[in-house]
Amino acid sequence: MSTKSKYYITTPIYYVNDKPHIGHAYTTIAADVLARWHRLKGDEVFFLTGTDEHGAKVEESAKKAGKSPLELCDENSEKFKKTFESLNLSFDYFIRTTDQRHKEAVAKFMQKLWENGDIYEGTYEGLYCTGCENFLTEKELVNGKCPIHLTVPEKITEKNYFFKLKKYLPQVKELIEKDEIKIRPEDKKKETLGLFQQGLEDFSVSRERVKWGIPLPFDQSQVTYVWVEALQNYVSAIGYGDNEKEFKKWWIEADVLHLMAKDILKFHCIYWPALLLAAGEKPPKELFLHGFFTINGQKMSKSLGNVIDPNEMVKKYGADATRYLLLSQFPFGQDGDIKAEKFDEQYNAYLANGIGNLVSRVANLIEQGGGQLNKKLKTSDLIFKEVSRHLEKLEFTEAIAVFESEINNLDYKLQKEKPWEKAVNDENRLKFLQETAGTILAIANAIEPFMPETGAAIQKKFLASKITKGQPLFPRMQK
Ligand SMILES: [Zn+2]
Repeated sequence: MSTKSKYYITTPIYYVNDKPHIGHAYTTIAADVLARWHRLKGDEVFFLTGTDEHGAKVEESAKKAGKSPLELCDENSEKFKKTFESLNLSFDYFIRTTDQRHKEAVAKFMQKLWENGDIYEGTYEGLYCTGCENFLTEKELVNGKCPIHLTVPEKITEKNYFFKLKKYLPQVKELIEKDEIKIRPEDKKKETLGLFQQGLEDFSVSRERVKWGIPLPFDQSQVTYVWVEALQNYVSAIGYGDNEKEFKKWWIEADVLHLMAKDILKFHCIYWPALLLAAGEKPPKELFLHGFFTINGQKMSKSLGNVIDPNEMVKKYGADATRYLLLSQFPFGQDGDIKAEKFDEQYNAYLANGIGNLVSRVANLIEQGGGQLNKKLKTSDLIFKEVSRHLEKLEFTEAIAVFESEINNLDYKLQKEKPWEKAVNDENRLKFLQETAGTILAIANAIEPFMPETGAAIQKKFLASKITKGQPLFPRMQK
């Protein structure tokens, strides 16, 4: 096993105006699997997630709901946190950009950029999409509309402060080319490098007309652009500007991985490293961008009514099965389809009839013989190592395939060996059950990052002083 190291993993912070849906769950479950896997390997881990709470859209929604922006944020942020807790996500810190600590860190960060001469005053005229919280270029519009929100952007002129992005582009590009800022998968690295060719402009870091935000320390009449300060959550959460020791530990010494969907590639892979360099800080070590998914072949949208609430899934299938069902659908990093109409079928096939049934049958056979094995159980870490080989590359579906093939293999051996036809004290039967239980324990260890409750329950069952069949891990879904 590799030497103990430090691992800092983040998800994007989620816009508080949204309701938690399986898109948020998908990214955050993936981050949780990695966090748990690193903890199992003995690494020291810091897992960060949270909510992005400023901007015009929150202001508007709060007004519509007759609430103050903060009241709205408090309520919605709590929904995200509760959802993530119900999915058994083991985040170490849930950041909110309305936290005092974040606001202070942002003020320090922006002041630094100002003092270093990387911010200048200008006028901005542009097409602004309230949905995106962002100015759009003519090129980005489709039929004169924002391609994401399908609304016509507003023409806006205002005083703004700009960040000297162009000054940092050659350096950022070089770091990406040399993998000193590692971007995965490979096609996303290519996509990022392609953006440099298109010509990137200095961008605005402030807004004049928005009130719900963090004021610029050097001009209180402006607030920091919501996504500019949101990016800074990755450093404010670990002590930027207020705890040098903690900051050094997680930003300088740790392996940093930012995990996200591909729609925010430019902000994370180019703008964020440039901002960090300008502030005199190291850029992130690594970014991984996963793909988009459809649900039953259709784009997820409110109007189609196919937005899935992860809380409903947890109620029906439990946290472990929900984690499994979401992560096992298609290779991470690619675009794919979540076959929600097949959830029941998949649950029965892979969990109830798969690992669940195997554990019950083997425990039952051991219980029939008195519930004891002859020797102390021996487990090997070969399965964990094989799973690790894939998790190293964020190949979740391939990692799942490893333990599923082990489960199939044991099912096959059980059918062939037919231990139930032998007397309970038959030597071959005892030997077979001894070995099988050992392999099940190894599988339990390897599945723990994916299904932590199941992994722990199996280990508890087979390491008990008396092994019993007990309740099924995954009761079958009835039609
Ligand atoms: Zn938009």
